[in-house]
Amino acid sequence: MRQSGRIIIRGIVQGVGFRPFVYARAQEYGMSGWVKNLGSEVEICAKGKLFEEFLAAVRAGPPLARIDHLAVTPWDGPIPDDFAILPSGSGTLSGMIPPDIATCEQCLGDITCTGERYDGYWATSCVNCGPRYSIIRNLPYDREHTSMDQFRVCPDCGREYSDPSCRRHHAQTIACALCGPRLRLLDPKGNTMDCSDVIQETAHLLDSGSIVAIRGIGGFHIACIEESAGVLKGRLGRSEQPFAVMIRPGHIDRIASVSAAERLLLEGPWRPIVAVVKRDPTAHAAISNLHTIGCMFPYTGLHHLLFSHLSHPLLVMTSANMPGYPMITEIDQAMARLGHNVDFFLTHNRSIVNRCDDSVIRDGYIIRLSRGLAPKRTPLDLGGRTILGVGPELNANITIYRDGFATTSPHIGNVRNPGTFAYLKETIATIGGLLGAEYDIIAHDAHPQFLSTRYARELAEAGDATLVPVQHHRAHIAAATADPCIGITIDGVGYGDDSTAWGGEVFAGQVPDYERTAHLEVVPMPGGDLATTYPERMLFGILPGAEVQDLLLSRGWTDMELAVLETQLAKSLNVAKTSSTGRVLDAVSALLGICREKTYDGEPAMKLESAAAIGRPQPWDLAYTREGSCEVLSTRLLCKKALREYVSQGGAEEGRIADIAASFQYNLARGIAGLAIHAALDRDYQLVVLSGGVAYNRMIRETIACEVQQAGLDLLINAEFPLGDGCISFGQCRYAGVLADR
Ligand SMILES: [Zn+2]
Ligand SMILES: [Zn+2]
Repeated sequence: MRQSGRIIIRGIVQGVGFRPFVYARAQEYGMSGWVKNLGSEVEICAKGKLFEEFLAAVRAGPPLARIDHLAVTPWDGPIPDDFAILPSGSGTLSGMIPPDIATCEQCLGDITCTGERYDGYWATSCVNCGPRYSIIRNLPYDREHTSMDQFRVCPDCGREYSDPSCRRHHAQTIACALCGPRLRLLDPKGNTMDCSDVIQETAHLLDSGSIVAIRGIGGFHIACIEESAGVLKGRLGRSEQPFAVMIRPGHIDRIASVSAAERLLLEGPWRPIVAVVKRDPTAHAAISNLHTIGCMFPYTGLHHLLFSHLSHPLLVMTSANMPGYPMITEIDQAMARLGHNVDFFLTHNRSIVNRCDDSVIRDGYIIRLSRGLAPKRTPLDLGGRTILGVGPELNANITIYRDGFATTSPHIGNVRNPGTFAYLKETIATIGGLLGAEYDIIAHDAHPQFLSTRYARELAEAGDATLVPVQHHRAHIAAATADPCIGITIDGVGYGDDSTAWGGEVFAGQVPDYERTAHLEVVPMPGGDLATTYPERMLFGILPGAEVQDLLLSRGWTDMELAVLETQLAKSLNVAKTSSTGRVLDAVSALLGICREKTYDGEPAMKLESAAAIGRPQPWDLAYTREGSCEVLSTRLLCKKALREYVSQGGAEEGRIADIAASFQYNLARGIAGLAIHAALDRDYQLVVLSGGVAYNRMIRETIACEVQQAGLDLLINAEFPLGDGCISFGQCRYAGVLADR
């Protein structure tokens, strides 16, 4: 039996109260020695009769920790008589950058417990909760490496910090009303408003209909009550886009049906936005005109206190940014960019070092990987090299592989925008810096024109790294598994091997060898991106006959406009080709009059899904053809059937529209499943992987799952990374790492 040793622990071990936890176990088992942060690892040197018992207890870890690796080696050096938490030392930086964690129950108790030290203090936190990534400048995670270093602890906080029996023993974010960050309420001109209780006054303003920009952990939100949502939409010029809400936990069951799993997520330490199904699909239309609504529970002391004063049960809580742009973090920016859109600003004086948007989850699948979930650390063996994946263009994030782990950044956004592109570069610098990364390989999208591709080239040149282009949909599959599989990717668009826009693809193989075996029918996109914005163009591209012409004329298209479109198609002028699943769904959404103009990403297909939610699907005929070595599902035939059904019913009757929408989704999904099943049976694969943003559509995902399983195959849907493009940077890393081993 060992009686001493040096223990090195890797994983989520900083920012989760690991050292105080070890200290408490050491007291319990009568150990002497020390614990300290070493780089991003934790080092323990300990001696005592109950060493093995102590070790077993340490292995369990505190609630928010995750131990990926624990090694014990003999320790012959001197060991003091008592046990202490020592100052951090430098060491390897491959470890965890801790994510932000919602206010814990105990801190919530402290805030609401009248008369105590933390009573009413909005930035109360402890070793188990509070901001982490958003305030961190360097590792190890110590106060002097965070933006809390601006605040000198008062004697009371200092006492708690050094008291081993206290929950705030070594809590790097410890602060109170006396010594910590402070709130200010500003009028639209930027003047500080004079009020005795800033949060109470803010609640009063919100209750009376004002729109308030609130600076949170990772950036600004814009908040208002439901009754003001229409005004806010008008001011932001986002009449259609759904807002997320922050809701009093006791109220959520009144507006949505929430499963046990969804409730766990809502109440858990990450506190993401969870897209739940509304009880009445038409209710709360000013917030969301879909059948779902994105809800989150209060997750900071500020939110809890705000709700304790608020008489309304929910607040619209939308990130303060334009779609695809990074969240605003600084008050000057907020005043300059939001000045006309909000009535008041509630801000604080703690710097946001790294911005972090709210995470979004639907049906257990991550839509936006961000606050609480990211930086995300994934154990992975790609050897001793360091790899950067710069991600895709839309819904981008980045991943860095180093020393047995991949670290994926929070959501960045649409890097086509210069502001977001700058944020991408900043994120690479921040996370690369925290991990001490120097890249051997830089993986990027195969699209030659992406800004991220160009930046990858620049970085590779400057740092003498190898560039690896990775085709978009292959990165999707590689993000889900390294095993041999049939991979289905259904999404908007990604740059294909033949330079056309892919997006309804089936592959067979194992990373990095994926052969395209099937796809959706290739259809024209007249006007390229215009066909994405105006999906009736897409519809006409797919079905250019008299029936669609008549339909479009009846909807206000002129003969002239139609003639131009026809010529464009006939002469192939600015007509892209695509096998995208998203574009086909868009076309049918337009056909059914559900969405004729896209005002935000994914809108036509999301509205089609909402319309289909009450519909009863019927089986339609499917047609498969061959194009070269690929099997092809005819989407034209499915669209034609939808048109027939629509026209024969004389157009718009709501129940009928729902049935056609449901049938279209159902049969498209059956067809796609067929492509994958044929490939699996032909080539003897057992595993089918499903990825791509269209897989968030519940009916499509569940239909594919059902068909694949009925064929006796196994289905894997990636629950670790977004099904959409938030998985691409991780897939790029794995793909490039495996490729380099050959
Ligand atoms: Zn706490
Ligand atoms: Zn204090």
